[in-house]
Amino acid sequence: MYNDKLLSKTQEFPCIKDMFGINTPCVIAGPCAFENYEQADMIAQNLVRNRINLMRGGLFKPRTSQYNFQGLGHDGLEIINCIRKKYGLRIVTEILDVRDVEIGLTHSDVIQIGSRNMFNTPLLKEVGRTQHPVLLKRGMMATLTEFMFAVEYIINEGNKNIIMCERGVRTFENSVRNLIDISSIAIIKQETSLPVIVDLSHSLGNRKDILQPIAKAMVALGVDGLMVEVHNNPKEALSDSEQQLSLKEFDIFLSSTEKLLNIT
Ligand code: PEP
Ligand code: MN
Repeated sequence: MYNDKLLSKTQEFPCIKDMFGINTPCVIAGPCAFENYEQADMIAQNLVRNRINLMRGGLFKPRTSQYNFQGLGHDGLEIINCIRKKYGLRIVTEILDVRDVEIGLTHSDVIQIGSRNMFNTPLLKEVGRTQHPVLLKRGMMATLTEFMFAVEYIINEGNKNIIMCERGVRTFENSVRNLIDISSIAIIKQETSLPVIVDLSHSLGNRKDILQPIAKAMVALGVDGLMVEVHNNPKEALSDSEQQLSLKEFDIFLSSTEKLLNIT
């Protein structure tokens, strides 16, 4: 069992508002991967127009196949530097390797640890030794207890700036990419004071048609934020092309959920 003293309600964890001054439920949006400056800039403009403050986007992509686009890596750092400077957007980006934590500290506002790395304890400990906000995704095959253990690896080193991210788990059900475990979200909300967000894109996959009702259900459940992938030209995207929302789809999504979300 995870240590209920480390994670219990009596422990104060900074909420998203404390970390960034952003009211919740917030929206984190952006491409699956940064591909070039023009793409990043076009998406950033749309986020700013929609008063979204947190932009996601990967440079180091954890791809299942080595033959797929691996992200721009170090070559893309200048893109996020420019976007941060030009728009004041806060950047959420994934770090895969413990040797790149320093890069995450310098070039991001939030370090994402992805599903495939939830069990990477050296990486968890390394980000735990910083005070940088960490968005930790649940492993696709991880139980809730294992997810909590991963969180403990980070806080035990001293970093409490953690956002837990449910992105769906693998099950026999294949109508969506990954099944959102709503009970776990309710348990986390009940037993801890950690902020929890839901990654709608990696859970629903190409079922963009049910994004709105699921988003509403998540807000009703009390989540602190929603993550969605947005691309200026999803059809031509170098990764996750089927699940990324076009700018127009993103606008529609926001207008349909606006009243439920706290877009500041
Ligand atoms: C991502 O958010 O870019 C990603 C790869 O997601 P996950 O780690 O949840 O698969
Ligand atoms: Mn993706």
